[in-house]
Amino acid sequence: MNELVLQPGRDRSVRRRHPWVLSGAVASVDGGAEAGDFVRVRSAEGEALGCGDYSPRSNIRVRMLWRGKDEPPEALVSQRIAAAIARRAANPELRGIEALRLVNAEADELPGLSADRYGDTIVVRFSTAGMRRRLDEVTNAFRGVAGVVRGYERADTSAGRREAVAVRQGLLWGEPLPATVDFAEGRRRYSVDIAQGQQTGFYLGQRDARDLVERLAEGRRVLDLFAYSGGFAVAAAVGGASAVTLVESSADALELARHNLAASAPGVETRLEHGNAFEFARRDSSQYDLVTIDPPPLARSRGEVNKAARAYKDVLISALKRACPGALILAFSSSSHVDAGLFRKIAFGAALDAERTVQVLRTLGPAVDHPVSIYHPEGASLTGLLLQA
Ligand code: SAH
Repeated sequence: MNELVLQPGRDRSVRRRHPWVLSGAVASVDGGAEAGDFVRVRSAEGEALGCGDYSPRSNIRVRMLWRGKDEPPEALVSQRIAAAIARRAANPELRGIEALRLVNAEADELPGLSADRYGDTIVVRFSTAGMRRRLDEVTNAFRGVAGVVRGYERADTSAGRREAVAVRQGLLWGEPLPATVDFAEGRRRYSVDIAQGQQTGFYLGQRDARDLVERLAEGRRVLDLFAYSGGFAVAAAVGGASAVTLVESSADALELARHNLAASAPGVETRLEHGNAFEFARRDSSQYDLVTIDPPPLARSRGEVNKAARAYKDVLISALKRACPGALILAFSSSSHVDAGLFRKIAFGAALDAERTVQVLRTLGPAVDHPVSIYHPEGASLTGLLLQA
């Protein structure tokens, strides 16, 4: 195994179980180490701290998989996958859930790997060269899951660029992938485009928020900004919304939303707007009683946080201006650089500028199948607020 030695004094983070070794903490690496190699990490004093996957081109130089001086077990990754699946199977909150995340990277001690289940299909995404090398082991670990007829690898192109690995996309095992895979979530029915959709096809982490929208929607005029395939719009329609307006920039996503709405709640008055949700929110003059705002990550790096905060504040001001007295606004941020505290400050600024009385009814985060490791706060990206104007 190749060896990597840390700078003096830079072993603290690894000892505190943070899963990343950043480039600035590295003093030296064995000459032959390549992208995806499993390397042993040592302190400057030579103590073996653990092992992880090496990424020479990423600022996150090593993702730790194993701590301490002992050799990791041969079947480390299969065991961790089995444990991740077992934890979810044992969680009463997830009983009967057909579509859920089975592996959530660092949170399940499997950096570089995420896996989602949609009914009879498991979709796997690799974001590091090291994890991708374990393709066979990973495939075998998922293969035996009861009720699953196929596994599919979804390419993570941005990670592929960062890691300079060729990321493949296609069937891993089982029956050919149909154009869409369907699942039911309570009374909501969704079709997912696994090969072409965003992420692995759906925003599974918003399940709790979908439940909430369904419970809140009765009799309300709903606006779903950044609607994707209608996760929230379907929940609102099923929950008895009087009308639902969706705004989304992807035509394919909007088409799938149309299909999902027809399958779950035919007959609810719907309006589908293909376009820019920031602009729509500014110019639309209709009134709403429930608005969901769930944009893509607006800050992809720390340097973009101020710009993202301004953009978010603007859309929130527009929503507050459209909101009838008593209206509910469910607002999400999905950038790990915007934490819950900053997000609340953004909402505060928007409320002040919109000159509205605003209450916080709930704070929200991802569903329990999307855990965050206590040692890895960077793994938390979704934060939300339920506001009443
Ligand atoms: N609420 C959705 C997820 C939204 S993800 C769900 O629960 O399923 C963010 C969505 O915003 C993506 O579908 C993306 O295509 C869309 N999007 C990105 N920029 C946009 C813009 N400027 N205007 C409208 N939609 C946009």
